[in-house]
Formats: sequence, structure tokens, C-alpha cells
Amino acid sequence: MTEQAGSAEKSGPERARMPERPPEIRRKDFEEVPVGYSEDQARLEASRCLLCKKPQCVTGCPVGIDIPGFVKLIVEGKFEEAADRILLVNALPAVCGRVCPQETQCEAVCVLGKKGKPLAIGDLERFAADWKRAHGTCPLPPPPEPSGCKVAVVGSGPAGLTCAGELTALGHAVTIFEAFHKTGGVLVYGIPEFRLPKAIVQDEVDRLASRGVRIVTNAVVGKLDTIDELLEEHHAVFVGVGAGAPMVLGVPGEEFLGVYSANEYLTRTNLMRAYDCEHADTPILRSRRVAVVGGGNVAMDSARTALRLGAEEVFIVYRRSRTELPARAAEVHHAEQEGITFHLLSNPTRILGTENGWVQGIECIRQELGEPDDSGRRRPVPIPGSEFVLEVDAVIVAIGNRPNPIVPQSTPDMQTTRRGLIVADGQTGRTTKQRVWAGGDIVTGTATVISAMGAGQAAARDVDRYLRSPEPREWQRAAAPHPK
Ligand SMILES: Cc1cc2nc3c(=O)[nH]c(=O)nc-3n(C[C@H](O)[C@H](O)[C@H](O)COP(=O)(O)OP(=O)(O)OC[C@H]3O[C@@H](n4cnc5c(N)ncnc54)[C@H](O)[C@@H]3O)c2cc1C
Ligand code: SF4
Repeated sequence: MTEQAGSAEKSGPERARMPERPPEIRRKDFEEVPVGYSEDQARLEASRCLLCKKPQCVTGCPVGIDIPGFVKLIVEGKFEEAADRILLVNALPAVCGRVCPQETQCEAVCVLGKKGKPLAIGDLERFAADWKRAHGTCPLPPPPEPSGCKVAVVGSGPAGLTCAGELTALGHAVTIFEAFHKTGGVLVYGIPEFRLPKAIVQDEVDRLASRGVRIVTNAVVGKLDTIDELLEEHHAVFVGVGAGAPMVLGVPGEEFLGVYSANEYLTRTNLMRAYDCEHADTPILRSRRVAVVGGGNVAMDSARTALRLGAEEVFIVYRRSRTELPARAAEVHHAEQEGITFHLLSNPTRILGTENGWVQGIECIRQELGEPDDSGRRRPVPIPGSEFVLEVDAVIVAIGNRPNPIVPQSTPDMQTTRRGLIVADGQTGRTTKQRVWAGGDIVTGTATVISAMGAGQAAARDVDRYLRSPEPREWQRAAAPHPK
């Protein structure tokens, strides 16, 4: 390989295709769909980068990864250094390379996209991170000088894990409290194995543990200890409890057997391994025809999971058009390849059931798009008399999530919005309660992995500033000892 990044002739239009397992095989198992670039493919794709002097891609990345920097290292065959460059600002590159919506972030503004296909930044990020996991040395950084401060992190999703990692690197003693028996948040209970292998998330959790982070699972903060009780033992608390409470459709028939929230369906399958019936006892309906309501990543994950659990036909029912589908483009593409049928501009009006209370169909009404609503998207308007019925034996509702309520409800002196989100400063994550920070979906509502990570990072830096500040603090009067 002799490619030189930045040369005009190397910026040709052909984007190296990510190799994938064939749809007819992968739709029957839970193994990962894309297989990843080879070294040659990665260098070839990386060599298309123009190494722009003012790289727009970096401004499009929520955490400002030095994209031309790591891409150039790939061209030079310095794969571990490329991963290290990303790790400077992104602790989970193997995760983000797989699940970030690059087409609306860094790749949306890549100059190559003006005349052809943008650089495959996400696929290259994934390549570098996977290469380091497989071949890299990964030495642990030398332990920092202990600050003497103790910080509790509530929730172990991307926000909590990132916050814990940053705080540990800054010398603070961190304990993560996680409600589930496994750490990783949506990365383990929501996003399926065929999109994000759990071993990748576990590696990161193991790395945190090996750096001294204490992890307490099966700990529902607000039921076991309250935030106030954690503050008695810790100098600061970060809340990253996510938005995992499902929304319901609110149509007749939602109580029939066979109607699932996407959360329950995915949690049973992913976290509790319902698909692995040889080794797990978790029950789940093996349905023949399944309707999934919604158009985001959660809906695509649910539909593709139903297929892998043996469904013969799976329908996506979404009330807007294809242009408005909020899911990542790759997920829609993969769902279509695997044979999911899309009923766009359609909205459920009721769920039909048998005398015994089991789902037997879903009635929908066709929609047309009217004027834009508050979200800026065109409002779907029902077309009278256009009802139709899909015969199904399961319905999965994937129309969004609300904030997890336990921590906000058990901490009444911490301000929340009408929707139950915690009010926190956008730059620092400070809440209205002394010594408590928050970030991720519990502050923004359902967003993205990278935005949750960014919030965890920003909060950790502000917690550090606060703990090292000489100003008198509430906690100095509390039982917890003063930091060195
Ligand atoms: C199925 C699915 C697919 C998705 N796909 C994508 C994607 O492709 N790309 C993307 O960027 N984003 C995606 N998202 C969104 C993304 O995963 C979230 O925005 C992100 O995980 C939010 O991170 P978080 O750390 O704020 O919360 P979470 O990941 O929700 O983690 C919160 C953690 O807090 C724990 N917790 C809750 N309450 C308590 C309590 N009282 N005490 C202790 N612990 C508690 C929870 O068990 C959980 O582990 C997806 C979401 C879902 C559900
Ligand atoms: S904008 Fe595109 S071509 Fe320019 S540096 Fe970024 S990835 Fe490379």
C-alpha cells in the first residue's frame, strides 16, 4: 500500500464499502452485521481524505475528534496511534464507530460529500478501535495522585461510564451505582448484539474496574439509598440515569397479550438473553407476524430482533414519510435488506384482539403531511376513511421514552422540568442541588450515545474544578472529609 493522504487523485469518489454478512444468513442470528474493514480497505478509504486545513468534519463531531489526524495515521499504517488519537477525546470509539449517527454529524459536513460520498469516518473510527482491541498494547496509565475525594456516579450508561472514567483519571475515588445486574445502560440492555457486541462494552467496564472504579450493581438509587444519603458518604454525585421509561400509544387494545414496549422486548432479549433459549430461561413470545410502531433506532432494533426470534413477517408502522425516519440511515438500510416491510405515513388507531385477550391485528390509518409542527417536521394528518388492518400476533411500541422517574421523584429539592427531566447547566451539568451534577438522557431526553458521553465528560471536569476549588463548600460542613 502506497496511498498518500491528501493528494487530489486519491480523493476519488469511490467509498470503500463496509463488508457485511449476507441478509439471508444474518437475519437468523444475533451476530454482528458489518464485519469491519481489512487493513487494506481501511487505508484505501482513509486515503480519500483531503486533510482539510479547516476540517468541517471536526466541527460536526460533538466531541471534536481530530478526524484528519487519526485518518492520516491510518493511511500511514499506524493503527494503534490512530486509535490513541481518538481516545484523547472519546473513551468509547469502538461503540461510537458503530452507533453514532455520522450521516447527520461529521460525515454530513465532510467536503468530499459535495461532489461524491463523504469519507466513511465512522467505519474508520471503528476500524482503529477494533484494531487496538485486537492487537494493541493498552497499557494502563500511571495512577494519578489521589485527590482524597469520593464521587458517586448513578447509572452506568455512556454518560455515567464516561464521567467515571474522567473522574478516576483526575484522581478521585469513584463508585458507580447501577440499578441493573449489568453495567452499560442502553448499550447492553437496548442496542442488540448484532449491532453492538456486548464484549466491547464489557471491555470498557473492565478497564474502569482495573483502574479502581468500584461498581455496585442491583443498586436502585432512590429506593436503596437516596441522593441525600449518597451525599453523606461522597463529596459529589453525578446522575446519569437515562430515559428508559416507555411511552404508550394510548389507543384501544394496548392491554392485549402480545403488546410489548420496545424496552421490555429488547431488555428481555439483550440483557436477559431470551434469544439464547439453550442457556437462558427468559420467556419471550416467538411471534409469526409482528408490527413495530415507530421509526427510530429503537424501532429498527425491535423489528430486526423480532425477525431473528423467528417472525415470518415484520412491519414497521411509522406516521411520517421516509425522509423523516429518525433512525440511522444504516439501520434503515439493513432493515430493508433483511426484508422488513415499511408502512410509512401510517398510524395505529386500535389494536385488535381475540376473545382470549391475545393480539390478532392492528388497525392503522393513512396519513398525509401538513404544516411543520413544534419539532420543525411536517405534521402527519390522518386521511379520513383510509383505515386498514395488518394481521399480526404481536405489537411492539417504540415511539419514545420518558425520563427514569425514581431519582427525580426521590430528590424533591432538585429542580426538574414538566416532562420530568433534571434541570442542569448545559456546559457544566450542575443541577439546582448543591454537589449534584447530571447529564445524558435524563437531562436532554432521549438523544445519542455521543451526546451522553459529552455530558458525562463536561460534568466530570466541572466536578473536578469544584472539588479542587478553595471556596468554602457545603460538603466541608458535611461528614465527608476535605480533599487533600
Ligand atoms: C434500543 C435503542 C437503540 C439506540 N440506538 C442508538 C444509536 O444507534 N445511536 C445513538 O447514538 N444512540 C442510540 N440510542 C440512544 C442512546 O443509547 C442513549 O441516548 C444513551 O444510551 C443515553 O445514555 P445515558 O448514559 O444518559 O443513559 P442510559 O444508557 O439509559 O443509562 C442509564 C443507566 O442508569 C441506570 N439507572 C436508571 N435508574 C437508576 C437508578 N434509580 N439507580 C441506579 N441506576 C439507574 C439504568 O439501568 C441504565 O443502566 C438508542 C437507544 C435505544 C433504547
Ligand atoms: S472534511 Fe472530509 S476530507 Fe476534509 S478532513 Fe474531514 S474527513 Fe477529511
